[in-house]
Amino acid sequence: MSASDLYFLDVDEPTALTRMLSDGFEDWSKQVASTGFCSRPVRLFGQARTFDRRSGQHLSTFDSRALPDSVLYVRCGNRRASRCPSCSHEYQGDMWHLLSAGVSGGDKGVPESVSTHPLVFLTLTAPSFGAVHSSTRPGAQPRPCTVNAAPGLCEHGRPRRCTERHDADDSRVGQALCPDCYDYEGHAVWQWHCPELWRRFTIRLRRLVAARLGMSEKASRNLLRVQFAKVGEYQKRGAIHLHALVRLDGAPSDDDPFPSPAVDVPASWLAERCLEAARDIEIDAAPVDAHDSARVLRFGPQVDARPVQRHSDDESDVSPEMVSAYLAKYATKAAGDVAVDGTPNRHLKQLRETCLDLCGRALLHEGFSSPYALLGKWADALGFRGHFASKSRRFSTTLGTLRDARRKYHRDREQLETHTDHASTDDQLDAAEHIVVLNEFRFVGQGWLTPGDAELARSAADAAREWKDTRRAARQPHKKGKNHGQALLHR
Ligand SMILES: [Zn+2]
Ligand SMILES: [Zn+2]
Ligand SMILES: [Zn+2]
Repeated sequence: MSASDLYFLDVDEPTALTRMLSDGFEDWSKQVASTGFCSRPVRLFGQARTFDRRSGQHLSTFDSRALPDSVLYVRCGNRRASRCPSCSHEYQGDMWHLLSAGVSGGDKGVPESVSTHPLVFLTLTAPSFGAVHSSTRPGAQPRPCTVNAAPGLCEHGRPRRCTERHDADDSRVGQALCPDCYDYEGHAVWQWHCPELWRRFTIRLRRLVAARLGMSEKASRNLLRVQFAKVGEYQKRGAIHLHALVRLDGAPSDDDPFPSPAVDVPASWLAERCLEAARDIEIDAAPVDAHDSARVLRFGPQVDARPVQRHSDDESDVSPEMVSAYLAKYATKAAGDVAVDGTPNRHLKQLRETCLDLCGRALLHEGFSSPYALLGKWADALGFRGHFASKSRRFSTTLGTLRDARRKYHRDREQLETHTDHASTDDQLDAAEHIVVLNEFRFVGQGWLTPGDAELARSAADAAREWKDTRRAARQPHKKGKNHGQALLHR
């Protein structure tokens, strides 16, 4: 079979049954599993040749033509849940491990002692850019939409407030009450500067911590360090919220990358410093063009900082399991996922168009030297150019380390399975060190070959995810304050 035949497999109406009755079904299923049940795997055609590094001897050749569809399926790795549930679920799992290691330690090379360091769960919000329809948070008493707003009509003849009670999935939630009153330009400009607000917040917090302990910032670095892990979340109104874990460590060394802080302060003290820093900072944002005016940008007033209690019996405390799960969940959401299924979202569309419009105006005004010259490039992200998930180097382990560990695990397992001789595990792993693999693959397409295949992969994925979740839940020894916390953190 040649590469060009790959697209013309002999199936008239390819259904899941066609695949299940095919000769290579078992091998195909193994491939599905090896992609982690990816929904749009990359199809590669070609060979991998293995050589002994020392002698240069050719040991074996793996050829994709030996596989059921003559292609090697490789996972897409997309972290967005709307693109690939399996790959994003894996990313979410990695994020959970990363955060959970940074919160509780005892995992992935982070010592258990970090669970004694002061830790704060922080939420930094965007300010208001105009009234939007809002829903009642789950578990709370249903309340009217914007009852606190002034009564009457706005200058465009629209009601200033809405007394309806909206469900969370109501397509009006997040939409502006009056699109003409809503400050789309202010919103786009704020979002554009949000990463800078965060950067200044971290600088300010480090300074404040030192100042409140009565020392210079330089001197404080010998005693303590502030570590962060941060995730951006889009609200329904298209505004970015930043959720962060802020932890105090000591000064790290090669021998001890996660020491305890040399100053004894409670988490509540750190929470107060976070609030103070968030209130202190502001940015003077340049006008977009001659028709625009300068803006002073700040975080919204609903800044929230809560101590995370690792060893508490109080149901109302924010528990470590909760914050890890919560942040990991948001790491896989993107701007497009905010849209209500199937309903064109007028508000987000308008915000996106405002980003493009402001960028065009800025370019006309100042050309590429304008600070807004690249805003149009980030219009799909509604002007937010920051990382959705980021952390300081010493907060926890890295995603790369987790991925390497997983890759090594799979590779070792595969080798154990494919070796037919009865050499010991150590011998095999030792041999693996001396092997060079030359990959000569080319991309032939993306996705499963037929809708039937895609359906089979999807149902296998569902089953696998369920199993993984059950296993993950079983590993979490205590889930204190879970229900209370969910409502608490939902905003
Ligand atoms: Zn995928
Ligand atoms: Zn409403
Ligand atoms: Zn209006």
